[in-house]
Amino acid sequence: MKSCTQNTEDGKKVFIQTYGCQMNEYDTDKMFEVLRQENYFHTDSQEDADLIILNTCSIREKAEHKVYSELGRLRNLKSANPELKIGVGGCVAQQEGEAILRRDANVDFVFGTDNLFELPRMLRKVHNGEKITQTGRHDRQKVRNFIPEYAFQQISKSGIKAHLTITKGCNNHCSFCVVPLTRGLEVSREPEHIVAEAEKLVSTGTREICLLGQNVNSYKANGVDFVELLNRLDKIDGLQRLRFTSPHPKDFHEKLADAIASLPSLCEHLHLPLQSGSNRILRRMRRWYTIDTFYEKVAMLRDRLPKAAISTDLIVGFPGETDEEFEMTMEAVRNVGFDLIYSFKYSPRPGTRATEYPEHISESIKSERLRILLETQEKIVQEKYQVLVGTEQEVLIEGNHHRKANTVTGRTRGNHPVSIHNSTEKAGELLSVLITRANPNSLEAEPSSAISFAGI
Ligand code: SF4
Repeated sequence: MKSCTQNTEDGKKVFIQTYGCQMNEYDTDKMFEVLRQENYFHTDSQEDADLIILNTCSIREKAEHKVYSELGRLRNLKSANPELKIGVGGCVAQQEGEAILRRDANVDFVFGTDNLFELPRMLRKVHNGEKITQTGRHDRQKVRNFIPEYAFQQISKSGIKAHLTITKGCNNHCSFCVVPLTRGLEVSREPEHIVAEAEKLVSTGTREICLLGQNVNSYKANGVDFVELLNRLDKIDGLQRLRFTSPHPKDFHEKLADAIASLPSLCEHLHLPLQSGSNRILRRMRRWYTIDTFYEKVAMLRDRLPKAAISTDLIVGFPGETDEEFEMTMEAVRNVGFDLIYSFKYSPRPGTRATEYPEHISESIKSERLRILLETQEKIVQEKYQVLVGTEQEVLIEGNHHRKANTVTGRTRGNHPVSIHNSTEKAGELLSVLITRANPNSLEAEPSSAISFAGI
């Protein structure tokens, strides 16, 4: 969950609460930019706001519940300030539409994932006393261009690290996932616009860009595929690091593994969502790969970069998952040795195929499986971090440590978090460090001098 802040000036104040994934964070940034054209300024206080927007996520049931309880809390603010306008955007809005207005009379407008550029028009109507629902599907051409008039205005919030959306929507229809229903079918942005946006980001101080998409490696526009896009971005002067998330294992090929191994800016880190170690469950999930093909993809990368970091997503307690099938996931976790896992208990999402599957797993079994998974993963991470002690790493500095003096923090190219003692290096600098200690969730280091970065 994230809220953005900025000094307020004359004009109205907007508070945006973001739930869920990086894609939503990116959309929130765009909402701020669109609203800035309407003389709205960020505030980090809901009490102070003239406009509150909840940018919602429906990928997990829990995230959806959070939105409704937040709307409940906002009722008091609205009674204290009837002029306050409340909007709900994002995936829950896309899915529920007008039902949100019926469920909560304090909500003034609801807009889908393709409608954020229409905020000014919606707000004008809202200020005229109308209740609005705008959840129309995207005009594919508009999405490809991301609306030229906003293409550059949206990039004023500079940061050392930035996200850049390259595709929107998904064609895969995994049986547990609402994304194709909420974000629509996949559309790839024009490569020229992506490169121009990346160049603009770098010119305003960004050093690391993470490309976003539900299935980034199926990117294709104007005859440019994902690897070609990476090649073009890699040539941008001043762009130190490039990452992407998430690729689908079925679309991960030798060419992409080669690119990770050879493009200087592309980090030696791959997020490759596995979801389950059981072939039967993978089939029911409609993932279109087997555990053996997943191992082949991992080998493709490790043959080229033996120490590359690999992270993944896993779901426990998918309908019908037996103890043996859960053990297959555990076996995969031990075999691959992921640097990081994002693990979730399966939760049924309305409209998805998996909700109709019989044999739903009880909450207590799901919780127990998640506990076992996390416990095992903790040990794996400890071992992996221990191996890094004594090695030299390149770290992109993100800022000062929030508690310790003379200490800065950043991340390695493998995306491991590091605290560097005896350093006052500025955010955005690359620093060579010697890893001195492994903590449960982070590394500690000292600056080392004159290191040549021959890769990890
Ligand atoms: S690949 Fe599957 S899990 Fe990922 S966004 Fe598409 S449908 Fe959802």
